[in-house]
Amino acid sequence: MLPYGRQTIEDDDIAAVAAALRADFLTTGPTVDAFEAAFAGTVGARHAVACANGTAALHLAMLALDVRPGEVVIAPSVTFLATANCARYVGADVVFADVDPGSGLMTPATLAEALERVGDRRLRAVLPVHLRGDAVDLPGLAAMAGAAGAVLVEDAPHALGTTMKYGNVTETVGDVRHSAMATFSFHPVKTIATGEGGMVTTNDDRLAERLRRLRSHGMVRPEGADPWWYEMPEPGFNYRMPDILCALGLSQLKKLPRFAARRRALASAYAEALAPFAPTVRIAARPAWSDPALHLMTVLIDFEAAGRSRREVVEALRARGVGSQVHYIPVHRQPYYRALYGDLDLPGSDAWYARCLSLPLYPAMADADVTTVADALRGALAI
Ligand SMILES: *Cc1c(COP(=O)(O)O)cnc(C)c1O
Repeated sequence: MLPYGRQTIEDDDIAAVAAALRADFLTTGPTVDAFEAAFAGTVGARHAVACANGTAALHLAMLALDVRPGEVVIAPSVTFLATANCARYVGADVVFADVDPGSGLMTPATLAEALERVGDRRLRAVLPVHLRGDAVDLPGLAAMAGAAGAVLVEDAPHALGTTMKYGNVTETVGDVRHSAMATFSFHPVKTIATGEGGMVTTNDDRLAERLRRLRSHGMVRPEGADPWWYEMPEPGFNYRMPDILCALGLSQLKKLPRFAARRRALASAYAEALAPFAPTVRIAARPAWSDPALHLMTVLIDFEAAGRSRREVVEALRARGVGSQVHYIPVHRQPYYRALYGDLDLPGSDAWYARCLSLPLYPAMADADVTTVADALRGALAI
């Protein structure tokens, strides 16, 4: 069975974890600092703050910005639940932005429409998602968020290794040139894996300090204080990432260039293998500025034209040993959000959802696996 995503754990990763288990600290030791420094260096940010998972990273970002009850956060509807939920953790309201139906991304146009729905409420943050790994229009979204008095926070778990060129300069997702913070996840299907794990990057010293404090109970140890002394200016959480997992993260991060190159090569192979299936099957649209290390190989399928339901296609693929997944059920369709905000009309999100299907993509896939998937898809769609 080819799953839609899978971690790549090698012998040296296992050795790195074993060494961490034999060391003095199982949590909050020197490997946390080492992983953070390596991650900051890799994406080109001043600070990287490790935390328990990508959801904790988003929650910490909301707390560090002091987002308060009754204020508003804009999140795209096509994303994982956590992008929206983090606003609710701090009592803020979510205004769901629509997405471009071809790329699944929040755009300046969909953000403009969402801004109209904020009304008189205080907008604090805009949370674009680099869906699949393709970079959103950060300069465009940042200008609009700034003009609306809000901060941009990138939810970037799909885009570790993605670079982009908005002008002449090559930028890296996570370098936070246009945003206050970017959040990452090291869930097994993400580009590097630690099981559970997350990161927030920022170039702002004060935000970094606040994130560090909030991830460990809100505790600080004032300089020069008694050796046992700690203080809590505000309550935080236990959102720490343990040394054991940071050792795995450090080992995995060294492989990012190889993993990203493999993802790019497989994406090219898919583009070639699936080209004959157009227009029934199209690969999600890539923005001109984006050079993605794709997390997801999402295709848009015209199920009506194929005369097959998505369920039939998913089951037929499965019968041929090919896993697939839907990214995502629009979050505004979840019962919780429908009860809160009623039925929203977000036609781009609905159009994306009607056609999207993510096919297997992970570094350990062989070139021949792409052919297997393409053949399975041809069979499943009878094209
Ligand atoms: C994976 C993911 C998260 C959550 O990360 P966890 O580590 O699973 O908590 C949040 N947002 C997006 C877009 C993700 O893909």
